[in-house]
Amino acid sequence: MSQNLLRNIPSVDHLLELPAAQEMIRNSSREFVRERLRQTLEQVRAEIRSSSDAFQETDIQSEIERRLREGFDRSRQPRLRRVINASGVVLHTNLGRAPLAEEAAAALVEIATHYSNLEYTVEQGKRGQRDVHCEELLRQLLGCEAAVVANNNAAAVMLALNTLAAGGEVIVSRGELIEIGAGFRIPEIMERSGALLREVGTTNKTHISDYERAINERTRLILRVHPSNYRIIGFTARPSLEQLVSLARERNIPVFEDLGSGCLVDLSPYGIKDEPVVSRSLALGASVVSFSGDKLLGGPQAGIIAGRQELVQRIRKNPLMRALRVDKLTYSALEATLQLYKQGVALQRIPILRALSASKDEIEVRALNLVNRIKAVGVADLELNVIDGQSMVGGGSAPESALQTSLIELSHNKLTAVDIESHLRSRPIPIIARIERDRVVIDLRTVILEEEEEIFRAVISL
Ligand SMILES: *Cc1c(COP(=O)(O)O)cnc(C)c1O
Repeated sequence: MSQNLLRNIPSVDHLLELPAAQEMIRNSSREFVRERLRQTLEQVRAEIRSSSDAFQETDIQSEIERRLREGFDRSRQPRLRRVINASGVVLHTNLGRAPLAEEAAAALVEIATHYSNLEYTVEQGKRGQRDVHCEELLRQLLGCEAAVVANNNAAAVMLALNTLAAGGEVIVSRGELIEIGAGFRIPEIMERSGALLREVGTTNKTHISDYERAINERTRLILRVHPSNYRIIGFTARPSLEQLVSLARERNIPVFEDLGSGCLVDLSPYGIKDEPVVSRSLALGASVVSFSGDKLLGGPQAGIIAGRQELVQRIRKNPLMRALRVDKLTYSALEATLQLYKQGVALQRIPILRALSASKDEIEVRALNLVNRIKAVGVADLELNVIDGQSMVGGGSAPESALQTSLIELSHNKLTAVDIESHLRSRPIPIIARIERDRVVIDLRTVILEEEEEIFRAVISL
């Protein structure tokens, strides 16, 4: 019987002529499809040999076609792929932090697929410098004398410490010796930078006099770190930036502030109250600041260093800069993102700012619409509710600012929350939801309008 079946398997050459295979060949190459087909047939033969009744009832040719198509699609799927963020965590580090604005993505494609003036001045027809791109825009937006861009903020901090303080001491409050996920720890970066950490104060309280007493002839820098993803609350004290600046000026020592997120506009009207605005720190007299490009700024991964001309110039000249610099794709996406701030349309065009500034009412209307659409189709055993909840800023930003939102809560008579959550994750475009109090919840704050259709299809297929 299985001998018969094995003999009935069409030849590779025959199968390659089928319309389905021809289409795959047009989308790849004959060799690629032939190899996939060979593997599919090997698998089918092995199954027939191990079980005599495999494929007895099936049309073996269409089964081979089906498997070929499946294997073809799977083998072409990139490892790094898009997901739908329905978690309500706006800057989700595991989900790639900030998605780019359309304008930034378009600029990136243009530069990626063509030659560019990366290190060329078109006006003079001469070699130019890559590290001037974005500088003018940053000067205007931040009100600083100079700015450079590095690979990420971890690189920016390393560059600043190494350039301004290697071989000397850096004063830091014990309340600011932080670790930000995935291996960024102030004491370790400091050690690698070649500067000596001079801790002052205590975990909860540090006074300006603590800094004052620690200054000596080896002091090169005062470092202030935005605590990002944690807060010390209760009996606490920390000198203001103004106080630090005034002490530092008296002693002729620069102040470097690691701002973490890099908020370019005041987000307090939207409930994000504990994120410092970059231009404010510079206006208050910080000599140099650094921040991420893909946190609250909403651009590509980058680390921006801004401040006094003379200090930024030294950082620019550091040989480490060559190792930590960014490529043309980052410059193009960053420049296009900064343009949106300059034009005053950042809140409307930058996805994370749109998500952060969306009101609970707006999200509730979308949630109710989606729920009504699903209910109109009707899914057996599924219960849907729209409930009040909270979104998070994420990305180590504003840990105390939970944003009020509206959640779609799903429960099912026959499926557990874990079943539902993993069903959503197993979709062609995985949907990342959250489980709260044993129920799956979907937060549309982080979902763009066009993605609602995918969620609709995923839920009705439960
Ligand atoms: C996020 C963060 C960093 C690291 O920034 P990356 O861009 O992820 O390298 C450094 N310092 C602070 C305070 C941060 O919040």
